[in-house]
Amino acid sequence: MKLLAGKPGWTTKADVVVIGSGVAGLTTVLNLRASGLSVLLVTKALLDEGSTKWAQGGIAAALGPGDSPDQHESDTLIAGAGLCDLEAVKILVTEGPEAVRKLIARGAVFDKSDSGEISLTREGGHHRNRILHAGGDATGAEVSRALLEAIKGDAGIEVIEQALAIDALQDAHGTVCGVTLHVIGQGSRDGVGQALSKAVVIATGGLGQVYSQTTNPSVSTGDGVALALRAGAEVADVEFIQFHPTVLWRDTTEGGQQPLISEAVRGEGAILLNHKGEQFMVKKHELADLAPRDIVAKEIFTQMRTANVPHVWLDATGIKDFEGRFPTIYASCKANGIDPTQQLIPVAPASHYASGGVLVDLNGQTTVAGLYVCGETACTGAHGANRLASNSLLEGLVFGARIATHIAAHLPEQVVPVEDQNEGFLLSPAIKLQLQLAMSEGAGVMRSEESLTQTLSTLSQLATRTSTEPRIEAWEASNLYLLALAIVRGALERKESRGSHWRSDFPLTDPLWSKRIVQRYDFKGQWSTRYLEVTQ
Ligand SMILES: Cc1cc2nc3c(=O)[nH]c(=O)nc-3n(C[C@H](O)[C@H](O)[C@H](O)COP(=O)(O)OP(=O)(O)OC[C@H]3O[C@@H](n4cnc5c(N)ncnc54)[C@H](O)[C@@H]3O)c2cc1C
Repeated sequence: MKLLAGKPGWTTKADVVVIGSGVAGLTTVLNLRASGLSVLLVTKALLDEGSTKWAQGGIAAALGPGDSPDQHESDTLIAGAGLCDLEAVKILVTEGPEAVRKLIARGAVFDKSDSGEISLTREGGHHRNRILHAGGDATGAEVSRALLEAIKGDAGIEVIEQALAIDALQDAHGTVCGVTLHVIGQGSRDGVGQALSKAVVIATGGLGQVYSQTTNPSVSTGDGVALALRAGAEVADVEFIQFHPTVLWRDTTEGGQQPLISEAVRGEGAILLNHKGEQFMVKKHELADLAPRDIVAKEIFTQMRTANVPHVWLDATGIKDFEGRFPTIYASCKANGIDPTQQLIPVAPASHYASGGVLVDLNGQTTVAGLYVCGETACTGAHGANRLASNSLLEGLVFGARIATHIAAHLPEQVVPVEDQNEGFLLSPAIKLQLQLAMSEGAGVMRSEESLTQTLSTLSQLATRTSTEPRIEAWEASNLYLLALAIVRGALERKESRGSHWRSDFPLTDPLWSKRIVQRYDFKGQWSTRYLEVTQ
């Protein structure tokens, strides 16, 4: 069941096609090049667009004195609420320090203390100072800058910007051997084309745009997860959407990307207050304001519901040199009329990170031959039911390297795609806002059988609004629809509360649900579900 699109009017080729130019895609590209493979890097907008450049807090790695991968593992497992894949976590935390050193060798510059050591801070759920940051709160921008600089001038990498990957090309056995893509370009590379390759790596980032309130940029429409589903790959843990507890609340119903107030601000001493001025996190968790994200988001949501207000407050007035330490956040606050050094910041939760995604093994391989997935699009099992802060940039670095190594060692011959005879599916772009609002209302921070069933019914109505005009907005809306369905189906299935999945009708964690929900969407558009036992 592919998307409706025109016939490819042009063809290009490389050993490997990498889709997406965030930390995951770029790390994979650089490591593929180290093995001498030719790479086509396609990216939907400009090279630096995506979540990576927005990352504020930093990268977690056990580099500080007294810290160890074992302690990082323990914090990751606690945040993951019993659903992490232990092997994936072990790989993340043990290969993490080396991956960060490699990033530094590639040119990334992190903030240093007065003594010249890399300065490490703490974020929610971490029991040690282990977060590297750059430019105060501009870590992602520095990571993106350094990686983009590193791919420059390499004749073995062809880059196509404004190139939206639509669907996988597959041979008669289902092996992925390239992608169809739409390019807003010039000359021979314009409109729908096809890129043939021996392997495809999807690194298209998150799916925050499924919700009306999100920290994710506009490109984060989950295209890669939808593409993989349509190619026959499985997805896992998609019900676990992390809602960032502290996003700058703006009095608007327009949706779109909202400015984030990083956990690192609480790490430096800011405190959450309710409308009565009470520091409400203190009695809720031993780490109080620095409790894991899901716990803070739920408590903020409860405070908002109880007082019937749209936000709580963050008091950062006690932080010394706020502007110097958090220049990006300071600028966002000022742009919205708030001086964080003098005033309380209004904050509310918003969709932030997809802990689940396309199910992959420890080398980023999906269940479909030739198809690899990396970064936020993937579900390695390292995050379980809830990602530990600053583990996602790290995941892109660690698994991007592993995928490249695996591809280089197992590169098959190029196979020939068969033409898909199905007519193709497309929804009207006009459904987007309604879909986002329905998802925030019924499948957001708190869900219930009733709210999810209502959301499912809204999605069914939206599915009738088909389109016959292939274009970017329609492909994105169709992808969002598929992802929304997967999320709601997973959330309905999981009759318990765990990690970032909170069911008001099943408020407790149920040991019977210590298993992962894996979903597949077949070529006839039918869904199937299986469970994966957890190894911890
Ligand atoms: C505001 C914010 C703050 C964050 N802070 C932190 C933090 O401090 N630490 C941390 O570890 N994580 C943080 N995260 C999460 C982290 O930034 C992301 O999980 C991570 O950057 C994802 O990297 P990625 O390479 O998988 O995807 P991205 O960086 O999102 O890159 C995806 C790429 O795919 C492209 N793309 C998308 N669809 C298509 C398509 N159909 N065809 C072609 N290209 C496509 C996009 O244009 C983009 O280039 C933060 C996220 C946000 C939004």
